[in-house]
Amino acid sequence: MDLKIFDRMESEVRGYVRSFPVIFKQARGSVLVDEANNEYIDFFSGAGTLNYGHNNPILKKRLIEYLNTDGLVHGLDMATCAKKHFLETVERVLLKPRNWQYTLQFTGPTGTNAVEAALKLARQVKGRQNVISFTHGFHGVTGGSLAVTANAKFRSAAGVGLANTTFMPFDGYLGTDVNTMAYLERMLDDPSSGLDHPAAVIVETVQGEGGVNVASKRWLKELERLCHQHDMLLIVDDIQVGCGRTGNFFSFEVAGIKPDIITLSKSLSGFGLPMSLVLMKPELDVWKPGAHSGTFRGNNMAFVTAAEALDAYWTDSTFADETARKERLVRDWLENLVHSYPGAGLSVRGRGLIQGLATSGRNDMANQIARQAFRHGLVIETSGANDEVLKILPALTIEDDLLKRGLEVIEQSVAHVLASEGASAHVFKFGGNKR
Ligand code: PLP
Repeated sequence: MDLKIFDRMESEVRGYVRSFPVIFKQARGSVLVDEANNEYIDFFSGAGTLNYGHNNPILKKRLIEYLNTDGLVHGLDMATCAKKHFLETVERVLLKPRNWQYTLQFTGPTGTNAVEAALKLARQVKGRQNVISFTHGFHGVTGGSLAVTANAKFRSAAGVGLANTTFMPFDGYLGTDVNTMAYLERMLDDPSSGLDHPAAVIVETVQGEGGVNVASKRWLKELERLCHQHDMLLIVDDIQVGCGRTGNFFSFEVAGIKPDIITLSKSLSGFGLPMSLVLMKPELDVWKPGAHSGTFRGNNMAFVTAAEALDAYWTDSTFADETARKERLVRDWLENLVHSYPGAGLSVRGRGLIQGLATSGRNDMANQIARQAFRHGLVIETSGANDEVLKILPALTIEDDLLKRGLEVIEQSVAHVLASEGASAHVFKFGGNKR
């Protein structure tokens, strides 16, 4: 495939085209098709944006109907019928059944803009600058979000100091024997710890980019308690693992916590359309009108598909139950794989349909597995500080057959990579199929 135009015209900053060096022309459900009609199973889902698959037919139908009526596409933050319907749907499907009250802020369409807004709001409310973030956390690459993002690759690109953040160890960061929440508590309790009283804590319940690190329910519950005790706002960044990725619509629900501020984006529109949202407890809404603005806060096409997705998938527990079933399937498969190679340094972690196959990090192994898998028709990425974790992120709507075929490709790619290190060779069953 001729990728020369991309090499010639596009900045060196381009990323995923390097991992998947083909030209994609179509996508349906969990299958991508390239220019030469090769098919690929998608275990990447637009980095968590396509929880309901590519071109989801339910959402596409609704969107086409809307466009055919010349419904507004762009609306700044004016009142539109599409936005009204989305607000009503959020209230009916997400908030009322949980007996929750949150005020909604529509930010610019990227996740990082929702994080910027959440941080600004927390600092305004508390009148303090410092925010606690966690090791391996990822919250976006604009100034404020980057300051709470841990990875040096992203931080060093800023070119300016990234201040007003204190990083604390995430759950498990210091090994299974160390309770990192006890460390945070000690730092907060001690007036001479050197920690400036934070306005807020920002956390992912499962760190998507940071290596599929899962915070335990107990750890999250303790974090909420410390936030209350020390007058800090709890911000849960549910941009990657919200919208059903871990089972329930919100990833923190299993822990029984209620964040002060929640950020959502990625799979919120359900169709891959850019859209971001901040949910805040009503009493925190200290914004002055227009104080956090943005031209693209009113993506009405996204409102239409987002409302449709809520009605299609979230009015009862069927969809979450299905995700739990698929989680077990994936988890069993991966655990079997790990047990087949004792001593290879592999392990599994994750929640719902975000699962990580962690490697020892030796010989760029996870990237090698991902590259090998792509050669055989599977789109999959790595995450973690040193790209040491293979991240399994299929659409929640993926058919069992495709899910199993994707897992087979992983199994055989692992076998291939380990064989090159001395284990016995295996033969592939599934490859990039011609249509
Ligand atoms: N927060 C989390 C948890 C993310 O995973 C991401 C992106 O991967 C972001 C924020 C930033 O979102 P965006 O890339 O849309 O700016």
